[in-house]
Amino acid sequence: MAKLVILGSSYAVPDETHENTHMAIVGQERTVLVDCVGNPIARLKRAEIDHNAVTDIIMTHFHPDHISGVPLLLMSMWLLDRKHSLSLYGLEFTIDRMQKLMDFYDWKSWPNFFPTEFHTIQETELYPILETDEFKIYTSPVQHWVPTVGLRIEFLKSGKVVAYSSDTAPTETVYGLAQDADILIHEAAGASEGHSSAEQAGTIATETNAKELYLIHYPTGGFEYHGLTAEAAKTFKGPVKIAEDLDQFEFD
Ligand SMILES: [Zn+2]
Repeated sequence: MAKLVILGSSYAVPDETHENTHMAIVGQERTVLVDCVGNPIARLKRAEIDHNAVTDIIMTHFHPDHISGVPLLLMSMWLLDRKHSLSLYGLEFTIDRMQKLMDFYDWKSWPNFFPTEFHTIQETELYPILETDEFKIYTSPVQHWVPTVGLRIEFLKSGKVVAYSSDTAPTETVYGLAQDADILIHEAAGASEGHSSAEQAGTIATETNAKELYLIHYPTGGFEYHGLTAEAAKTFKGPVKIAEDLDQFEFD
């Protein structure tokens, strides 16, 4: 059974019930984190995901609310005696900075550190980055303040498709990611440079023929975010929901 777990749903400022947006794709063979923030080991425990099962981390972009947990997770895994390799994926911009960040932590001097492999994501549309018996993951560059990718995940046994916009303003490549998706998980930080509103997310869901829309990366902490579904419903007639921390989607 493969599943997708929402580990956090907030925009850049989290609150007591919403961690920054990140998620996990859990399969038999591989468990893939999509971004990594906060206290990763504690959050994985809350989600009942074994940290030893994590094989891959996809870093959508180099902003603290998406990747600041990577150094802490690497250190925690090392202290928990991990031996097996971990793969990290990102655009060149992201990988370069993550390696420099780890150099600031002087990670090369950590004794018996487990092997890490960095994989550079190409800036082409629907670039295949990972394939297992259970799912295939593709990325496309989207439109944010720094180089960023969104994802399309195909669950092979069920044939279900999940698209995740990542942080982006509405742009052509998001349409490619979301085309005919069973579930579109779209950011709703608000219409601004590099971000989208719930209404814009609804337009994309309609125009790509997505079946269900989940809003994520929305303002939390006192903001009445439940009104976002009504905003998206102005432009999308299918089901609209708010993604919440620890929501799970199961795929056979
Ligand atoms: Zn961002």
